[in-house]
Amino acid sequence: MHLKNSKTLFETAKQFIPGGVNSPVRAFKAVGGDPVFIKSAKGAKVYDEDGNEYIELINSWGPMFLGHANELIEEAVREAIKNSLSFGAPTRKEVEMAELITHMVPSVDKVRMVNSGTEATMSAIRLARGYTRKDKIIKFEGCYHGHGDSFLIAAGSGAATMGVPDSPGVTKGTAQDTLTAPFNDLSAVEQLVTENKDEIAAIILEPVAGNMGCVLPKKGFLEGLRTLCDANNMVLIFDEVMTGFRLAPGGAQEVLGVTPDMTTLGKIIGGGMPVGAYGGKKEIMDFVSPEGPVYQAGTLSGNPVAMAAGFAILAHLNEHRNIYKEVDAVSGRIVAGIKENLSRLGLGYTINHIGSMFSLFFTDKEVYDFTSAKQSDTSLFGIYFREMLAKGIYLAPSQFEALFISHAITDDLADQVIQMNYEVLSSVLVK
Ligand SMILES: *Cc1c(COP(=O)(O)O)cnc(C)c1O
Repeated sequence: MHLKNSKTLFETAKQFIPGGVNSPVRAFKAVGGDPVFIKSAKGAKVYDEDGNEYIELINSWGPMFLGHANELIEEAVREAIKNSLSFGAPTRKEVEMAELITHMVPSVDKVRMVNSGTEATMSAIRLARGYTRKDKIIKFEGCYHGHGDSFLIAAGSGAATMGVPDSPGVTKGTAQDTLTAPFNDLSAVEQLVTENKDEIAAIILEPVAGNMGCVLPKKGFLEGLRTLCDANNMVLIFDEVMTGFRLAPGGAQEVLGVTPDMTTLGKIIGGGMPVGAYGGKKEIMDFVSPEGPVYQAGTLSGNPVAMAAGFAILAHLNEHRNIYKEVDAVSGRIVAGIKENLSRLGLGYTINHIGSMFSLFFTDKEVYDFTSAKQSDTSLFGIYFREMLAKGIYLAPSQFEALFISHAITDDLADQVIQMNYEVLSSVLVK
């Protein structure tokens, strides 16, 4: 494998784009080496600027759930383009899209379209604050909700502390309104609620975390948050930007059986186009302008081309629900294969897995929150990542990401992934 063109492009990119990339994790800083520049993709394969071919296990961080260059989605986009790219006025497709989303995600009575997951979570939080007339929010350490100021907060020392900004540019005032607790730690949340009585507007979380690697909620955790929210007039927001339409037509909330007040959506909802959405109970959503007082707007929101792509993928998933069983089966096959590899090699690394999401953590301890995830050997992961890439397997370039299986991965490709995983683990990692 050579990466001459990628290297040249990256050198030029660094002159004109901060860090050479338009989103930080693409720069491969967490794993070492330079990023691969992608030229095209089809189905389960991506091709880079140097003609190398990879089996795709990130799928644009989730959206390409049916695989790349899906005919249905592309045809819908081609049809939409003929009618102009944007109107900034209401269209039929937005109505169909909203109706379909509320059908697939029953906890959503009404929904507002935006252009990214970040916009969805920022808007949801503003709405929850406006609706409850309270300022503070609780988020969980290791959960990512986009790059809105309120969410760029890490936990300080101790189980539950006042937020400190994770990034320069986030003001102290903003940080103070974000309280953080460890994922899966219900008693830490209860303590925050007691200490900040009548001040907390919302609890926001990824019901299945994907942004500290794949981390599942323990039994009773989500149910406990639901009860707390009901008892304290707090809005429970599930950030399903990653899990929505992936774990089930109705997302993680359908699989786990806990119903939030509001849901944020992104990634799959656009089928590869920039789309996000937030929705929930009618009485809360009716607080959004122009119906209500909470302002939120967007020149390109509900863009006709983006809606065409999003509607095409959602309608297909809604009609062909067997897709979920099939994707989950292939994902389960890969996970079982990797587990077998680990046991053949006498390695005790942890795999967290649900549906078409999983992470291999380079630690033999259980991973249930960000602290336990951080016990992973990230330099070992870096080696693993680079060796897998050299063998034609395109993984997420960080230990703290989940992998996203698409419907285009066949059993045969899954077996190739398992085989490469064995070769890399045995040749590089077992000393
Ligand atoms: C990706 C992601 C976001 C941010 O979405 P963008 O479209 O990148 O702004 C928010 N929340 C979760 C859970 C995500 O995975």
